[in-house]
Amino acid sequence: MTTNAQEFARARGAMPGGVNSPVRAFGSVHETPRFFASATGPYVTDVEGREYVDLVGSWGPAILGHAHPAVVKAVQDAAAHGLGFGASTPGETELAELIAARVLRQAQQTGSPVAEPVEAHPIERVRLVSTGTEATMTAIRLARGATGRDLIVKFAGHYHGHSDGLLAEAGSGVATLAMPGSAGVPAPIAAQTLVIPYNDIDAVREVFAARGADIAAVIVEAAPANMGIVPPAHGFNAALADIAHAHGALLILDEVLTGFRVGPAGWYGIDPVPFSPDLVTFGKVVGGGLPLAALGGSAALMELLAPLGPVYQAGTLSGNPLAVAAGRATLDHLDADAYARIDAAATTIADAAASALSQAGVTHVVQRSGNLFSIQFAAEAPVDYDTVKAQEAFRYAPFFRTMLAQGVSLPPSVFEAWFVSAAHDDAAVARIVEALPAAARAAAEA
Ligand code: PMP
Repeated sequence: MTTNAQEFARARGAMPGGVNSPVRAFGSVHETPRFFASATGPYVTDVEGREYVDLVGSWGPAILGHAHPAVVKAVQDAAAHGLGFGASTPGETELAELIAARVLRQAQQTGSPVAEPVEAHPIERVRLVSTGTEATMTAIRLARGATGRDLIVKFAGHYHGHSDGLLAEAGSGVATLAMPGSAGVPAPIAAQTLVIPYNDIDAVREVFAARGADIAAVIVEAAPANMGIVPPAHGFNAALADIAHAHGALLILDEVLTGFRVGPAGWYGIDPVPFSPDLVTFGKVVGGGLPLAALGGSAALMELLAPLGPVYQAGTLSGNPLAVAAGRATLDHLDADAYARIDAAATTIADAAASALSQAGVTHVVQRSGNLFSIQFAAEAPVDYDTVKAQEAFRYAPFFRTMLAQGVSLPPSVFEAWFVSAAHDDAAVARIVEALPAAARAAAEA
């Protein structure tokens, strides 16, 4: 039988760092990465036959649990009819309609003032792409095409994928590797992105006061989850929308991670203060575990895309029938009951983590945005990238390794969210809860 260490050694000879996406190398937690052989429900099994309760969830898509029978069957049925045609299929229209309908329904049903009235249907047209990176990249091109302006405002610690203009002070793997950005991004392109601190509305006002006439859009994670969880301050998204709109710029709401996870549509509509984004990006859950992402907005904006408009965007595998089938089956099973289960399991795990860390005397906060949460080794809740970076991040590696040794697979970085699924039943949650005290003690000793 093969081992994780053997697989990693072999992989490093074939792929840079042995991986196809950096955080998978487990570099910041100083542990041999696990090579997985299979997954079902809340569990993943590595090539050595060890089972773990999984809190990575494929970085979000596995919201119903791994290999959900209905999703697998939908993909199998689609595959039997052909893997892709490079032409349109009815399923794409159905998924696009489903995305739009869920966003509208959530806005109307939350009782939040967003519903009264919904001035415009937030998402009238959808384009399907294959990755979150493409969704945000396209949204930015569209915003530039619509406004005739070049500058983009982004927030430090937010991650929007790996396109050239969005890597400056990015979260996720860029934060984990403590990189300021990426080599290979031409300086003139980097100069088109203005990076400001999160949750600081004065910084937003200042950047728009200085450069407002040249800013095409501000892009924001609806509820940031790529520097650990840092919830938006009350009314932050709404203030952002107001300022952008006052200057003729667009608000791009990145819901690649939060979309269809923190609520039936995403953070939009559950944010306690109403606001109107111009473009919304989705990924992860909307593809049900296969490569699919989306962007949406008003017809007027979205129809600036080719073939109707002058903004070009395309994709050989866009709207792939297997990915569409996985996304539709996933959304079909994400009902109120599924969200209630996810929310309840997230609360139990988050509370147990906090209490284990308190008992071990570890200074920490557990921040939450809906059912997303993460632990941060800080006395005060971090509000932006600087305060996130100031935490005692070195405590995470021993915490992570002790959880892994007890059969719990956490995100391999303190800068990532913990992903709970609807399949995390009492038995899976109990295994996590039992493992936490020893991990908390390891964090205390670090
Ligand atoms: N935006 C956000 C908020 C994300 O969390 C991610 C991925 N974690 C992306 C964009 C990029 O998505 P992808 O990895 O599918 O390109």
